[in-house]
Amino acid sequence: MAFEPELIAVHTAAHGRYDKDYDTTVQDLYQWHVKENGWSDVGYHFLVRKGGDVHPCRPLERVGAHVRGWNSRALGVCFSGHGDIKPWTPEQWEGGLELLRELMFKFEIPDVEHVKGHREFPRVAKSCPGKLVDMEEVRARLHKLLIKTVALPEDNFSQNKESIHGSLRINSLDVRACGRVERTTQSSGSVRAKDRNDE
Ligand SMILES: [Zn+2]
Repeated sequence: MAFEPELIAVHTAAHGRYDKDYDTTVQDLYQWHVKENGWSDVGYHFLVRKGGDVHPCRPLERVGAHVRGWNSRALGVCFSGHGDIKPWTPEQWEGGLELLRELMFKFEIPDVEHVKGHREFPRVAKSCPGKLVDMEEVRARLHKLLIKTVALPEDNFSQNKESIHGSLRINSLDVRACGRVERTTQSSGSVRAKDRNDE
């Protein structure tokens, strides 16, 4: 059965290993999730770095590993950094909201109430995506962005629909890295099972 998410879960990397301005990379996530936790791939579907650039991680066809009990229903979008220590950068806000908007269109997610911070899921004790990330503000700004898109004149809107599938600013190097992970672990049942030990 294809993965048909109805929610988007927002995270920050929130590692304590580097200084507070550290801009988490896909390679870091790979190190933690695959090398150290033994998962089949990075748990999130995307990483939004401090410069606003969006990096794909786990392929969208596959269920992620990022909110215990909810992975089969939620996409995982992670932001670099630590949201208890530093707020998202303005570029991260911009790139992240654009990504969320495109994912909402792609998966026909009906409204911004389906975009949740990790801490807003039931029985989650963490602060993720961080005390300095106001999820009401995320939803309000995303809502504004969606309205702006839909309010475009007819011609522009159809052009805009094209871009929904084609315009994500992604880093092809990361696509390659994540694709390799996918292939090398596909055949191993034990690694896949371990993958359920998400956060
Ligand atoms: Zn989280």
